[in-house]
Amino acid sequence: MAHIVVLGAGLGGMPAAYELKEALGGSHRVTVINAVDYFQFVPSNPWLAVGWRERDDTNLPIRPALARKGIELIAQPVVRIDAEGNAVELKDGSRVAYDYLVITTGPRLAFEEVPGAGPERHTQSICTVDHAEHAWQAYRGFHWFRKGRWVHLAKIGFEKYFLYKMKTGSSEPVYEKYVLKALGVTRLMHRSDETTTTTS
Ligand SMILES: Cc1cc2nc3c(=O)[nH]c(=O)nc-3n(C[C@H](O)[C@H](O)[C@H](O)COP(=O)(O)OP(=O)(O)OC[C@H]3O[C@@H](n4cnc5c(N)ncnc54)[C@H](O)[C@@H]3O)c2cc1C
Repeated sequence: MAHIVVLGAGLGGMPAAYELKEALGGSHRVTVINAVDYFQFVPSNPWLAVGWRERDDTNLPIRPALARKGIELIAQPVVRIDAEGNAVELKDGSRVAYDYLVITTGPRLAFEEVPGAGPERHTQSICTVDHAEHAWQAYRGFHWFRKGRWVHLAKIGFEKYFLYKMKTGSSEPVYEKYVLKALGVTRLMHRSDETTTTTS
């Protein structure tokens, strides 16, 4: 009897485990190892982040579902694959031996690649159900006049400036010149007529 371990119970791992068990029947063992004991339907995370769905709507406890098909579940993160020894090491220090290993662990989120990125720092994420819930909490706690009043004021100023331009028919790029100057651009060259415009 062979022991097949499916690592990861996401959109890839769950169907893989079911199909393997169906094809192999009772003569071989199939075990799913997943960091948590539930399946999350990742594509619905955006709806959690805006409060249209709740965690229980998009997550499913997998132990009973897998047990019904004769598939075992170990709900623990795998910390190391010992390919030489045909075994995986779990967070609690135990080892699970396998004959065949299917790896469906999905993406590794690399927020550290962008300084300041990630829900632990300054941006929100909807890549996991935990992140999506965090984003929804953050959104609900966000109050323009308390936390983002300068952003809000800048937005109003920008809006008024453009409305004024539209109303008066002014084409003088006052704001654009100011921004370019702040960026260190002091001269613009028109390609068509090779004339030079200064921004001050
Ligand atoms: C916001 C969002 C919307 C999306 N919408 C769509 C869509 O509309 N259509 C579409 O086709 N695709 C969509 N995708 C992409 C799709 O969700 C992924 O392609 C898919 O989830 C990948 O499946 P997977 O099984 O490889 O990984 P996942 O579904 O991420 O599952 C990986 C599993 O492995 C487990 N795991 C990871 N590391 C370990 C470890 N060390 N030990 C134990 N378990 C571990 C995780 O807990 C998880 O359960 C979307 C993705 C996002 C983020």
